[in-house]
Amino acid sequence: MNLKDNIRVIPDFPQPGIRFKDITTLLKNGPAYQAMINEFVDIYKDKEIDLIIGPEARGFVIAAPLAYALGVGFIPVRKPKKLPHETIEVTYDLEYGKDSLVMHKDAILPGQKVLIADDLLATGGTIAATLELAKQLEAEIVGAAFLIELTYLNGRKKLGDMDITTLVQY
Ligand code: IMP
Repeated sequence: MNLKDNIRVIPDFPQPGIRFKDITTLLKNGPAYQAMINEFVDIYKDKEIDLIIGPEARGFVIAAPLAYALGVGFIPVRKPKKLPHETIEVTYDLEYGKDSLVMHKDAILPGQKVLIADDLLATGGTIAATLELAKQLEAEIVGAAFLIELTYLNGRKKLGDMDITTLVQY
């Protein structure tokens, strides 16, 4: 299954000059969606992962099915004021804008092995913030998994020596 063929590129969205990678075309193709998750399962099945963390909203569509397939827990990372219990918060820069992410304070126990998953690695800001949340809770970071990497934005640099897997590159 060629995953890249199932991703649609939209010029000038949400701003002029940005070539937006639209994954909804991949998600609506059942065999392509399943093939993507199965590729991640093959890579991570023997890593003894306890939890998969995904930032809203597109991170959920990767992290949750992968957690289900591996039989491990899923932790949502959300925008402020969405989570009902006590939270920790980190502010970060986006490819276009600025934002904060929060996680429940009791989401991860110290030493639990976590994988971070999202749809797309651009500048790395979202995942650096997610990583910071996980580190504050003393997680052991197994790595980060992305469907797409925009290699020209050098997001990997922001993530230090973390083990990073991407299935499709632009
Ligand atoms: P970063 O924080 O700069 O690495 O941006 C990654 C985040 O922005 C991901 O959570 C994506 O959902 C979103 N994003 C940035 N560019 C695109 C795009 O071209 N298509 C889809 N999502 C994007």
